[in-house]
Amino acid sequence: SLLPGKIFEVSASPMPGGGAVAVLHDITRIEQVERAQRDFVANVSHELRTPLTSISGYVETLLDHETLSPQAREFLGTIHKNATRMGRLTEDLLVMARIESSEQELHPVRVRADVLVRDAVKAMSGLVHDSLALVEIGDVSDSDVMADTDAVLQVLSNLIENGIKYGRPHGGGQSRVVVSSCDVSETPGGAAVEFSVRDFGQGIASEHIGRIFERFYRVDKARSRESGGTGLGLAIARHVVESLGGRIWAKSEMNQGSTFLFTLPRVGK
Ligand code: ADP
Repeated sequence: SLLPGKIFEVSASPMPGGGAVAVLHDITRIEQVERAQRDFVANVSHELRTPLTSISGYVETLLDHETLSPQAREFLGTIHKNATRMGRLTEDLLVMARIESSEQELHPVRVRADVLVRDAVKAMSGLVHDSLALVEIGDVSDSDVMADTDAVLQVLSNLIENGIKYGRPHGGGQSRVVVSSCDVSETPGGAAVEFSVRDFGQGIASEHIGRIFERFYRVDKARSRESGGTGLGLAIARHVVESLGGRIWAKSEMNQGSTFLFTLPRVGK
């Protein structure tokens, strides 16, 4: 009989002449350690928020003074930029910790794929204005998918934001991002809608493309830091998509651009 409160992983192997052997591995300890780590990260990031808000607040007040020397203004500007960066990092860590623990359950509902695409593009319009980027909607499927609307909008926003940030064409100019979706049926999980976010920027070298979905992985550390990223966006995106039963990947050609694709289970039709 199984021990109550224990978590087991089962692996089964077939035996010659029929039958099979099932082995139970006790992973209670691993689960406990992982949970403790997640809780720790969540607590630390949560605790860092208040002091960071305070730092940013005071710096902003000082920056409002007109009598500042140019040097003081420059130093305060640097403090402000770094406090903002730390704030973003703690927010992303918090989201990551929440999402990885089963506390934050996703709530999939039936929603139209084209509505998700249009809402995500609409939500990006502020950023588009600032950076003079062009975000277009390509062909979109009007099929229904099962998805947690907020989480998927976050995924799409992350991908579009990356397209804007890293999608400036070689030799300069405006970033162009095209968001599309289409029905597919041959995925391992059955019917799905495939979403794609395409840019025409610098591209991602093949040695990096398999790793960009890892936490904190960034191709060009200095440049990515400049752009204000944390290296967690794609890790969060992968977690959300896979939790909803989809898959996420990227294709790219150097100096031609990148396409990020993900699927979500399609319902009806
Ligand atoms: P970040 O916060 O650094 O943007 P992400 O997890 O969103 O973190 O992305 C990880 C890394 O993948 C980025 O630092 C960048 O090097 C690379 N990357 C992501 N999207 C693109 C893109 N559209 N074009 C080129 N490189 C990209």
